[in-house]
Amino acid sequence: MFEERHTPQRLAVDCRWLHRTLDSSVRDDPYRMICQHIVRDGANCVGPFLENIETECQLWEPNARMAARLAQIESGSG
Ligand code: SF4
Repeated sequence: MFEERHTPQRLAVDCRWLHRTLDSSVRDDPYRMICQHIVRDGANCVGPFLENIETECQLWEPNARMAARLAQIESGSG
């Protein structure tokens, strides 16, 4: 019988290169989403940071939490 598996979406918030921080010098929007990938080092993440909308970033890689989730799915226990 066919077992449906749901591959997690590639959300920017789950990217291993994302560094979330605060910039208190910007009062109305202090939240910063910085990309630490060598190609974009220090630039803003391309996002988007909207629920359930995947990033189109080709540099995206899963962070540790998402990598564990993907490994669970691949092993059949997720
Ligand atoms: S720009 Fe791409 S690689 Fe960088 S943090 Fe955002 S999704 Fe990840």
